[in-house]
Amino acid sequence: MIFDNHSHTVFSSDSEMEAEAALEAAARQGLGLVFTEHYDYDYINTRHYKEMEFRFDAAGYWEKYLPYRGDSLRLGVEIGLSETSGAANREFLQGAPFDLVIGSIHIIDMLDLYYPDFYEGKSKAEAFGRYLRVMADMLRANPYIDVLGHIDYICRYAAYEDKELAYGDFAGLVDEVLKAAIDCDVVMELNTRRLGDSRAVEALLPVYRRYRELGGRYITLGSDAHAAENIGMNFRAALDMAEALELQPVTFEARKMAYCR
Ligand SMILES: [Zn+2]
Ligand SMILES: [Zn+2]
Repeated sequence: MIFDNHSHTVFSSDSEMEAEAALEAAARQGLGLVFTEHYDYDYINTRHYKEMEFRFDAAGYWEKYLPYRGDSLRLGVEIGLSETSGAANREFLQGAPFDLVIGSIHIIDMLDLYYPDFYEGKSKAEAFGRYLRVMADMLRANPYIDVLGHIDYICRYAAYEDKELAYGDFAGLVDEVLKAAIDCDVVMELNTRRLGDSRAVEALLPVYRRYRELGGRYITLGSDAHAAENIGMNFRAALDMAEALELQPVTFEARKMAYCR
């Protein structure tokens, strides 16, 4: 069974998706699903903090969804990686026996990449360079995660005419990220949200080809759905990419990797 390894229900501050609706959407497509709720310890310390906390109670989450957990639903988390959250993240992960832990970069220098102020006063080379530098360093500093979330997250919100992460422009830093993932046994996610855009696919292909060249063998596919209609989004394109690059789609149960077939 192919798994959608990245989704957010009401336990995530920015999602109103009910578990039942998500499960129905996955079942209709014959997909397994992993809930990966946001835990971004730093968020309340950013200047953007208003009412969204991006934190949740691990034990309460586990208890609420345990009745649904099984062959087609796993319970995970997407933790925010940063220079100041490592100890808090490790402590949080003690709160429940998560199936899958995604590590993601959403906040850098206490600025949320979602907002324009991270990009203000920075050239694209500076903004993307800082992003990739932090990503590589945080991977090495937090090797206990299973999956690196959306390497192209910055492309969603970057305030530049060309938002794509072109491998040729950032080869050295992208290699550092990919090597850190491989050295730490962290699987690269192929986040499918942007794969409906052919420019995104064209830019990402060389990144994942390089991952394969450097020794990467596995990927997780994840829609990052915050609404039921986005479960399994662009999975056809993602599976085509995986096949073309000879990367094996996987999922995780109790922190152990399993092939998706
Ligand atoms: Zn994310
Ligand atoms: Zn997410």
